[in-house]
Amino acid sequence: MRRITFGGSDLASFVWSGPAAHIKIIFPEPGLGLNTVAVPEPDGPRSPNTRTYTPRRFDGAALTLEVDFVLHGDGPASTWAAQAKIGQQLVMMGPGPGYAIDPDAPWYLLLADDAALPAVETILDAVPPAAHVTVLLEVVAADEARALPGPAGTNVRWLARGNDAQPPGSPLLAALDGFVWPAGEGCVYVGCEATAMRRIRQVIVEASGLDRKRIITRGYWRTGAVNHPDHDYALD
Ligand SMILES: Cc1cc2nc3c(=O)[nH]c(=O)nc-3n(C[C@H](O)[C@H](O)[C@H](O)COP(=O)(O)OP(=O)(O)OC[C@H]3O[C@@H](n4cnc5c(N)ncnc54)[C@H](O)[C@@H]3O)c2cc1C
Repeated sequence: MRRITFGGSDLASFVWSGPAAHIKIIFPEPGLGLNTVAVPEPDGPRSPNTRTYTPRRFDGAALTLEVDFVLHGDGPASTWAAQAKIGQQLVMMGPGPGYAIDPDAPWYLLLADDAALPAVETILDAVPPAAHVTVLLEVVAADEARALPGPAGTNVRWLARGNDAQPPGSPLLAALDGFVWPAGEGCVYVGCEATAMRRIRQVIVEASGLDRKRIITRGYWRTGAVNHPDHDYALD
């Protein structure tokens, strides 16, 4: 992953909208140069190079916005992030609404792969300090583990997928197997590859006994799909 810090007076209009929110970023058209991003007309067509990202941290005094990019290979966003240099510009829109934290939830279970790791970190910044939190995180390699925010005692498991060794989401699914569901009305957030997310959602709905409103699932990307949509919730 690579963290990019954006800055500039245009960020004065940015309003933090809570954890696991998203912004749309327009990346440069291939072949037009890295600083040639056209600002779209409000009702005009959306650039095919628009992608969805998570505002990780906003500093309203310094007017900086951090975004963490998975460097997964081909794709306008990943390619841009891999080469990003000071002085380059992008067009951003948003943020959309964030995830509503339940301040009374006794426990949280958060499952994510690397694309949703920034979202999980923003949730960990916001969960009530008394909540019992379990985090399952799937990354390509074990050395991507990093210190996370969250209440004291947060239980974090890093799961290494390996490069193409197994389908995305398999380690998350396997780790769920041994999960002991706590009592009480907890909250679950899942963000990962879209096909895996559906299998994980099914397991959680069947095993947890939770009201479905407390199980938030998001497909962040889909194997083989360009620009997977930002509203893939698998609601049944
Ligand atoms: C609400 C929301 C928030 C998101 N926040 C973040 C974030 O903060 N950081 C982040 O890195 N991503 C985030 N994503 C995921 C990101 O939008 C997608 O990964 C996006 O497809 C990347 O665009 P691209 O131009 O690099 O690749 P695309 O042009 O969209 O896809 C090209 C190819 O790359 C594959 N691909 C795309 N993403 C991945 C991936 N993560 N791992 C492996 N292969 C992939 C596709 O399957 C496709 O075959 C978020 C998605 C959503 C819906």
